[in-house]
Amino acid sequence: MQVSTTLSIPINKIRDSADDWRNRLLGLNAVADCITAGSIRRWCDAIERIDLAISTCSIEEVLDFAAAQPDVEIVLARKEKRMLLRLNSGIPLQLWLDHPSNFGGLALAATGSINHFAHLQRLARANGYALKEDGELTHAGKSVACPTEEQIYREIGLPFITPELREDRGEIEAAQQGNLPELITREDLHADLHMHTNWSDGDNSIREMALAAIDLGHQVIAICDHSPLVCGRIYGKSINAGNYFQQKEEIQKIRGELGDKIRIVHGIEVDIRPDGTLDLEDEILQQFELVIASLHTAHDQPRETITDRLIQAIRHPCVKIIAHPSGRDLPGTGAEADWEQVFKAAVENSKVLEINSNPHHLDLNDRLARQAAEMGAKFSIDTDAHRASALVNLKYGVGIARKARLQKDAIITCLEKEDLLRFLNIDR
Ligand SMILES: [Zn+2]
Ligand SMILES: [Zn+2]
Repeated sequence: MQVSTTLSIPINKIRDSADDWRNRLLGLNAVADCITAGSIRRWCDAIERIDLAISTCSIEEVLDFAAAQPDVEIVLARKEKRMLLRLNSGIPLQLWLDHPSNFGGLALAATGSINHFAHLQRLARANGYALKEDGELTHAGKSVACPTEEQIYREIGLPFITPELREDRGEIEAAQQGNLPELITREDLHADLHMHTNWSDGDNSIREMALAAIDLGHQVIAICDHSPLVCGRIYGKSINAGNYFQQKEEIQKIRGELGDKIRIVHGIEVDIRPDGTLDLEDEILQQFELVIASLHTAHDQPRETITDRLIQAIRHPCVKIIAHPSGRDLPGTGAEADWEQVFKAAVENSKVLEINSNPHHLDLNDRLARQAAEMGAKFSIDTDAHRASALVNLKYGVGIARKARLQKDAIITCLEKEDLLRFLNIDR
């Protein structure tokens, strides 16, 4: 039961829909447990459908309940323990069901990836077991009860492997050697260095963004509104150098009010123009505490031009972070560059690459972040929030960082306030 096209619906909307369905199913007495599985659980940046793994002794009853839900457009396929539906929103939903004694195997099969699961099947065979497509583990023809995933991994001689890593990209070998990486969590992050306010195209004021960030436990935030080119051309809002100085005064005032609760950094997201120059004069850029640079136009230039453009920005003395490096707007693919050259330039010039957690960007993605990490790059995980409620999107950047196996010491937003400000060369 495969529907393999990547959805153009933003990842946060798909996750919300998955949570909603999960809660509905958990509300049934017949359902003992239900988890979101598939590419969502693996924190993939491309999601083709929602997969839910359901632990129940009343499979028929749960299938009937699901098929009768008002947001179901059509039941595409119904089998003994599996059902594929399409929701009115256009999102395909696949339900995987089994008895609690086999929930571990079911969750494993429903989570995938196909390659990770196939590798486990080979290991199971080598250990005298059979791991069936639906996750049932058998030994000498008899079912082995495995209510948890941990138990299946244990039976075939492995420690638990976290879902983000399940792509068969070396994680099984690492697990066999006892070398699974320690992954960061949301609690390791103390800062968010990219967000917008109503000074450019954001919905909230600086104060509102700061208060929301305090609630999330952040020690440092950077207000990085857009430069004139992007404000004018894309959002039809005119902004000039004078406005940034007024903004600086407002930030200083709010800092006075909020005291030590949070350090608000006055930054800017300056556009990298099609010719590789920045959208503001150096004398103006020098007035900001933090300059992050990014592509917003001419993404379709040839690969060499994009590469030069990014490297020129990386070499600019005012720039500290390259935000959403490919400039992709999902489901678009963004600009094409020689990423090895770009990452090399970032490492050589001690510039930071962003992992943009905005569900429309998710940029760098986990593959490029991994490649950059192997070259010694540093990262900043930011939300690029355009409203206070979007500051929670940091979890998407955490998902990418975990999938990319980034270590804490490579992520500057994991630094405590003093160390981060020192790293960025910003006054206390
Ligand atoms: Zn941007
Ligand atoms: Zn931005």
